[in-house]
Amino acid sequence: MGEFELIRQYFARGGTSEDVVTGIGDDCAILRMPAGHDLAVSIDTMVSGVHFPDDTPPGKIGGRVLGAALSDLAAMGANPHWFTLALTLPKADNQWLADFSDGLLDAANRYGCCLVGGDTTRGPLCVTVQVHGSVAPGAVMRRDGANPDDVVYVTGTLGDGAAALALLQKKLTVCPSSYDYLMRRFYSPAPRLQEGALLVSVASSAIDISDGLCADLAHVCEASGVGALVDITRVPVSAYWKDYVNEDKCYQWALSGGDDYELCFTVPRKQVGQVEQWIKAGKLAATAIGKVVSKPGIVLAREGRAYSLKNRGFNHFG
Ligand code: ADP
Ligand code: MG
Repeated sequence: MGEFELIRQYFARGGTSEDVVTGIGDDCAILRMPAGHDLAVSIDTMVSGVHFPDDTPPGKIGGRVLGAALSDLAAMGANPHWFTLALTLPKADNQWLADFSDGLLDAANRYGCCLVGGDTTRGPLCVTVQVHGSVAPGAVMRRDGANPDDVVYVTGTLGDGAAALALLQKKLTVCPSSYDYLMRRFYSPAPRLQEGALLVSVASSAIDISDGLCADLAHVCEASGVGALVDITRVPVSAYWKDYVNEDKCYQWALSGGDDYELCFTVPRKQVGQVEQWIKAGKLAATAIGKVVSKPGIVLAREGRAYSLKNRGFNHFG
């Protein structure tokens, strides 16, 4: 099977959408932005053996890459429209391609994001996804908007990505339901798109947690010229794995584990009531974990005492 046949058979079948003027098959995709909106763009690469195990079933790869890429749109409050795919693969194996494209297009469907083009090359397995979304001008959450006294929140639970990695590396054993939960969290990270869209009107800053809470919150603090105080006992962790590890490891994973794809956001005091109301009404799964302070740096506290963390987050070149 040649390159063009492969693209036609596996990738040019994702369905189309009104805002795709020209999709897969020409030199460029032509896309129609909603009137008066700005374009939000982000790209993510995942390398086999680095971002997912070499023996990952192909059907699970696409959901992980697309979920991670869309998490960046969620963090800024953007609405996803389209994505492109750069796929490097060792050989054109029909079963592999069928499973991979099924998984990817399923995820795309789930998130309302249409595959509009890409590039296919031969080489060691590597999957790159570029996502395109829209935002109303100025209606975004940036990293540089946090102010002293804002409340720091996170969505969902933290540490699931690190726990899942430990499972895959056979450094953790759990019961079957916990296993399923953690594998779902690892292979189908759900980008917090609805949460991002809701928060855009109230949050002063946001970031998605891909490298660990401490590392990512530090980016917000640096960009905003502030610091943060985090009460680590308030950081939400999942009951699916928490009782399988000691307390130190639990904090370690929740505070510095990567791959959670939750949002960390800050809220000015006058908007906290609104956020708490959304939480109570079940519209938003989020937890207040601390506050922004004027002194730079992140201080972790546990029952009023400073807590020190060995490893503060993931860094490919660190
Ligand atoms: P060109 O050589 O002009 O860059 P290609 O031959 O790489 O074009 O691709 C042909 C068409 O197929 C283009 O529309 C491109 O966007 C699309 N395409 C290539 N690879 C993929 C892929 N993996 N998934 C989706 N579309 C793809
Ligand atoms: Mg090409």
